[in-house]
Amino acid sequence: MTTTATLERPAANPLGISRLDLIRTGAFIDGRWIDDPSGQRFDVVNPADGALITACVDGGPELAAQAVDAAHAAFASWRETTAKQRSTLLRAWFDLINKNADDLARLMAWEMGKPVAEARGEIAYGAGYIEWFAEAIKHENGDVIPEPIAGRKMLAVREPVGVAAVITPWNFPMAMIARKFGPALAAGCTVVAKPAEDTPLSALALVALAEEAGIPKGVINIIPASRERTPAISSVWLADSRVRKVSFTGSTPVGKLLAKGSADTLKRLSMELGGDAPFIVFDDADLDIAVDALMKAKFRNAGQACIAANRVLVQDGIYDALAERMAAAVGKLTVGAAQDGAFDIGPLINARAIEKVERLVGEAKAQGAKVLVGGARHAAGPSFFQPTVLADMPADMRGSCEEIFGPVLPLARFSTEDEAVALANDTPFGLASYFCTRDQKRIWRVAGRLQSGLVGVNEGAISSEYAPFGGVKESGYGREGSAHGLADYQSLKYVCLGGL
Ligand code: NAD
Repeated sequence: MTTTATLERPAANPLGISRLDLIRTGAFIDGRWIDDPSGQRFDVVNPADGALITACVDGGPELAAQAVDAAHAAFASWRETTAKQRSTLLRAWFDLINKNADDLARLMAWEMGKPVAEARGEIAYGAGYIEWFAEAIKHENGDVIPEPIAGRKMLAVREPVGVAAVITPWNFPMAMIARKFGPALAAGCTVVAKPAEDTPLSALALVALAEEAGIPKGVINIIPASRERTPAISSVWLADSRVRKVSFTGSTPVGKLLAKGSADTLKRLSMELGGDAPFIVFDDADLDIAVDALMKAKFRNAGQACIAANRVLVQDGIYDALAERMAAAVGKLTVGAAQDGAFDIGPLINARAIEKVERLVGEAKAQGAKVLVGGARHAAGPSFFQPTVLADMPADMRGSCEEIFGPVLPLARFSTEDEAVALANDTPFGLASYFCTRDQKRIWRVAGRLQSGLVGVNEGAISSEYAPFGGVKESGYGREGSAHGLADYQSLKYVCLGGL
């Protein structure tokens, strides 16, 4: 096995990354950067212009098996480290991420298209998970249970579940994997990981910094792979009973496949899947707050977020005013490539994404929606879409069960609170929902009635490492962030001491 994987460097550097050694293209297994035995590679391109960045090792089943061997072997010693030792290592990693935040952000902007300022925000957000779990593990206790029988002591202690397999999407290339690595390592688990094929470089750079921080070999193993080769990797991991946990963030169909594949070995599962977030604006909302919350909930990451507002339901009395304000705000958004300057909206991730958004807008127009602003591809290039506001959407809009995943805001009217809640819940998904109102009683009532794992009230950016993130219904199960996120990588062991 050669180590040429580590030596490849991109010819161009349009975003001015200073540490080019953070650009890794190999698989990292048992502390070494290696190639796949097949010698296969896949291209990583800048979505803004399709230009090649570099080619990554296209991992397959042999590497997948090696990664489990390494993670399993490392688990024996990693689980025996003290919480303080793990915390110190995670803290060193967190510090290195911060130190290199600018390069990491530029790399992310390059491979994913997100504006550099937004990418910096994601690096800080993702690093926050490493820091939070580094702290949390030092403060965690088990339980001493009051014994019902004399002469006994009863305890419940938390243990790491074992080797965790981690598979992540492209839309938050660093944060989605950091929020799995943080709690997994803090709990004492080791990991085998497969980042998204569109954006492997951010995850590989993060792992390069973990190596630099001194995380022991075998604790983190990662394999980049093309979409075609990915199922061969996941099949190895699903079949191996040494893998005790699967943590997946991605689409609901793939989540279901992984859940089925985990059944034979009864793995623990965390499934962070697709969303269809409703955003309700009631007549009594503060218009400034509603506009601000909607801009954040829809246009962050060009709308490519699982918790992005997918359907905006607006009460009759405020509808016209909100539509006018949103059209004005969205009309001001700037669009362009990260390498060309500081813009609000970058490209969509690939040709499939742009075709989907175009199709959904076309269908909306055919159903009678009125384009207030945008509505077509943007002149910045074939992968850019104009920030768009669609008014007068029918409440049963086609897009209402399909994630738009683009900078398109559809507005529909409603009359009563009951109608809004019914429309909001009329979806197989249940990840995030939002509403804006000034009525305190309504806040409690509607927050309780919405069927979703997260609810934003008068706020459009709600995700935090301090809070549990995850869905209900077909948006999945399991939580990331907070003490609940740590518990997802632990099993409880009851110890009964007798004869005392
Ligand atoms: P995707 O499911 O197509 O891909 C996600 C990951 O799964 C990628 O790494 C991909 O290579 C891998 N994958 C694809 N097919 C696989 C297979 N057969 N076996 C194993 N792995 C496979 O999703 P995507 O389009 O890349 O990401 C967008 C989706 O992710 C959206 O639905 C979005 O809502 C969801 N998402 C959810 C959350 C959340 O926390 N709930 C966060 C971000 C994104």
